[in-house]
Amino acid sequence: MTKLLDPPDFEQCQTMVHNGCGPFSMGGISRYDRCSHPPKYIIHEIKPGEDGLRGSMSLCTFHKDKFLIEMKDKIINYKFTQIL
Ligand SMILES: [Zn+2]
Repeated sequence: MTKLLDPPDFEQCQTMVHNGCGPFSMGGISRYDRCSHPPKYIIHEIKPGEDGLRGSMSLCTFHKDKFLIEMKDKIINYKFTQIL
């Protein structure tokens, strides 16, 4: 079955942020929520992934900077477009 890619969201950053509840946090449910910030960039995969599809997602400024740091060894595979 082919997994469809979500299109970029121009209203909200698409980074999934963990709520901080861990296995021993004594309450709460561990989950990821969407970042609530407005997006400033769209990041695009230059080459298709293993699924043969080229993904893209919207990122706020904070998560764009985090992406650049965490993905620095693979950054050649992505291109950024600024949302004006
Ligand atoms: Zn964000």
